[in-house]
Amino acid sequence: MVRDPICGMPVDSEKTEFKVNFWGVTYYFCSEYCMHRFLKGPKIAYFSMEIGIKSEIPTYSGGLGVLAGDTIRSAADLKLPLIAVTLVSRKGYLRQKITEHGEQLEYPEEWEPSRFMKLLPATVTVKVGGREIKIGVWLYEQQSPTGGVVPLLFLDTDLEENSPEDRGITDFLYGGDERYRLKQEIVLGIGGVRILEALNFNVRKYHMNEGHSGLLTLELLKRNEMNVEKVKNLCVFTTHTPVEAAFDKFPYDIVQELLGEGFPIEVLKKYGGQDKLNMTLLALNLSKYINGVTKIHMKYSRKLFPGYHIRTITNGIHPYTWTCQYFKELFHKYIQGWANEPELLVRVDVIPNEEAWEAHVKAKNDLIDFVNKRTNVKMDVETLTLGFARRATSYKRATLIFSDSEKLREANRKGRIQLIFAGKAHPRDKAGKEIIKEIYSYKAQLENEIRIVYLENYNMEIAAKLTSGVDVWLNTPLPPFEASGTSGMKAAINGVINFSVLDGWWMEGCIEGVTGWAIGPPPHESIGEDEKRKREIEDLYGKLHYIIIPKFYKNRDYWINMMKNSIGKIAYYFNTHRMMRRYATEAYL
Ligand SMILES: *Cc1c(COP(=O)(O)O)cnc(C)c1O
Repeated sequence: MVRDPICGMPVDSEKTEFKVNFWGVTYYFCSEYCMHRFLKGPKIAYFSMEIGIKSEIPTYSGGLGVLAGDTIRSAADLKLPLIAVTLVSRKGYLRQKITEHGEQLEYPEEWEPSRFMKLLPATVTVKVGGREIKIGVWLYEQQSPTGGVVPLLFLDTDLEENSPEDRGITDFLYGGDERYRLKQEIVLGIGGVRILEALNFNVRKYHMNEGHSGLLTLELLKRNEMNVEKVKNLCVFTTHTPVEAAFDKFPYDIVQELLGEGFPIEVLKKYGGQDKLNMTLLALNLSKYINGVTKIHMKYSRKLFPGYHIRTITNGIHPYTWTCQYFKELFHKYIQGWANEPELLVRVDVIPNEEAWEAHVKAKNDLIDFVNKRTNVKMDVETLTLGFARRATSYKRATLIFSDSEKLREANRKGRIQLIFAGKAHPRDKAGKEIIKEIYSYKAQLENEIRIVYLENYNMEIAAKLTSGVDVWLNTPLPPFEASGTSGMKAAINGVINFSVLDGWWMEGCIEGVTGWAIGPPPHESIGEDEKRKREIEDLYGKLHYIIIPKFYKNRDYWINMMKNSIGKIAYYFNTHRMMRRYATEAYL
């Protein structure tokens, strides 16, 4: 028996007369109706510069790409008619090594697409800087146990017909200079629309996951006789950036030089901004449905872009992907059906406390073993363990916990703690690299008292181990820079308790002392910035010393109840199944 990818019904592959060969894979259907929908039904094309589909396919750098992967996984589970488009990034983002002094070394993370995907016979061309560039496409199919399937298209310019320089356009995710980035965005946005057409997909919506794919709007304008209303009806735009300085922008001289596709400069300026081509603005002006990724991010975005109707759909994580083996077993035993209906996790109280604690200890053991094998810091499973892992960049403030080493020492004397860090800095982010060095120097300073490790080469696999194996997930971004954040949601579904600054998703997830703890005041409190920074430090050490450490060591039942609240009051909601149902009903329909 196999499952019909459209309706999910079991089908006898020997007997059914309804089958199609879709680039080498045969699909079986219950009826002609489902077969027809599979081939010709309207699709949502989901464009993302990065996609984290699995650890071995290193075409992601952080939360944005992992969210894209989770989006696709949930869409497959829910049998939504999605197709994803991205770049093949043959040399990945970067493979990180760290010297003993905390210096980051970067290497290409080369991978072989043919190990995971199939090269399709279709090619298209785009004109870049006056040259025709040929684009090939690899197909990866995300299959769900429900029968659902989402095709992923990875665009590739490494074809013999292209010049050596052009062959490298799809090598490095976020690599190179402005010109390199614009070429990539031409391939993604314009090339992507053309590939979908060449493959005969019937696309009813183009969903831009962040502004990088914004040039697709220009291609659609061209195809629709410059009819703006028509194009807007076709486009959905999700912004992930809460501050003006972080928008993807290109000077018009470079745009004119490279975008040799006959797009009149007046049109570009009208929709993309007068002084520079602002990809966020372009996508905003040419999309009917626009959303931020948390409620507070929607508010920031409305302030940045007055006059636009910006809505919000709060991010999530894919439940099955981010739940450790031990909690999966527990959920299977007590909450059947949770993986495809994660709202059932609201019933977490049916799980006995001892079993929840046992599952956590097993996950923690796995993590501590992993850390002890990889480093020479000998961590142990009894000690309260805090985790902090995400891209190493200034606004994430990884070193905030070291602001006052004496206070940290005092807390550690109250009850021992150990700290696990991980995260890559972008090759050109000097401040980000400096953060890693600083953590190394704190690690040396505190060596005889507090065990600290920095794990190399943070990726999805390490993220899964960390977000399930620590006791507390620490997050200290500088508001308002964290549009959403998702790693804390991964922690929550594993009963790991969040201790976080009130920004992004935590504004919606935090119930003080019930689902976790807040660091600092809520952003709407009308006090000065200096006072806010002071309150953050007070909470950080105060709550660690007087609440978190005592509760962990002396009140295990209270702790386990908070773990269960993380599952029943956070994870049941902050997942991509709920998120995709909302995109389907609010943005796509
Ligand atoms: C989930 C995830 C992130 C996102 O982390 P935030 O704390 O939300 O920034 C980044 N990198 C990897 C590898 C992840 O799995």
